Amino acid sequence: MKVIDIINSSSKPYASLEIVPPLNGITKDQLLETVKPFMEFDPKYMNVTCHRDEVEFVRKADGSYARRTVRNRVSAVTVCAAIMAKYGLETVPHMICGGASIDDIQGELHELAFLGIQNVLALRGDSLTGEKRFTPHPEGYAHADELVAGIREFEAQYGSQFSIGVGAYPEKHFEAPNLETDIANLKKKVDAGADYIITQMFFDNQVFYDFEKKCREAGIMVPIIPGIKPLSTARQIGLLPESFSLDIPVELTEAVRDAGDDKEAVYRIGTEWSIAQCKDLIAHGVPAIHLYTMGKTKNIVEIMKECF
Ligand code: FAD
Repeated sequence: MKVIDIINSSSKPYASLEIVPPLNGITKDQLLETVKPFMEFDPKYMNVTCHRDEVEFVRKADGSYARRTVRNRVSAVTVCAAIMAKYGLETVPHMICGGASIDDIQGELHELAFLGIQNVLALRGDSLTGEKRFTPHPEGYAHADELVAGIREFEAQYGSQFSIGVGAYPEKHFEAPNLETDIANLKKKVDAGADYIITQMFFDNQVFYDFEKKCREAGIMVPIIPGIKPLSTARQIGLLPESFSLDIPVELTEAVRDAGDDKEAVYRIGTEWSIAQCKDLIAHGVPAIHLYTMGKTKNIVEIMKECF
């Protein structure tokens, strides 16, 4: 079933889960074991992130360097196929422009059609490690709106049909000069054919409500699903703002600092903060909440028990 149809037919808000494919060496059975605790909540679908191949330069005996492409993780499509086969669950593979030609993307879309996957989250992806700005593949797409349009063209050519989601940033994408420009660019993705939006994580719901209002004023009328990640370690107070260009409220920062070395307490504070966020978002009528699991299970299960 397509995500947009699930959103439109749901009588109450639901949890949308996002997992990261395992590193090489982890088996299918190990992966399925980590996903199992979520299954008791009968999720409607599961998002699976995708990761760009990294490039390494290896010094050769003659002093010159050889370029090597390194793939550290199993692909999103393979993980989706494993989850579908075991649990019969709908999956939403993420697809990125980074490192891919249009032919590569079309090849992947054929694989999705073969597997009966009707959903895609279309993203640009980030620059490679050590690269200052994102550089598109010479025969690929520079922005997610082009990818969305490309998927719609593929559908027209091959008769398959996808529900397409796109990403958005309540605190602005780090490259955008201002939030208004970023929202105008978000509208390009919707105008290109995106059915719904999932936001980057945020820790202050007011930031989301203000963002949603601005999107509506800019003429973006598709469903917007807020993204929530429970803070799980004290280190994330520094890491999350750096990696995702977001703010962590003073109250949460201080609570984590006060917990000191008590890891359990930090975990609990992060989980409780997210539970409060989810309850408030649900009270405000969001269609669903996207939970970034990031390899954690216990906190996500607690949030699902409390809120859905
Ligand atoms: P875009 O929409 O292309 O935007 C990138 C920047 O370009 C923004 O500043 C925007 O304002 C600007 N822009 C957009 N369109 C145009 C245009 N037409 N002309 C000029 N400027 C434009 N990354 C992964 O590698 N794998 C994942 O699985 C993954 N999952 C994600 C899931 C979610 C829900 C979100 C929110 C992000 C995810 N990301 C993932 C991260 C994402 O790839 C990065 O944030 C990336 O830097 C931007 O991707 P985007 O699709 O938002 O890009």
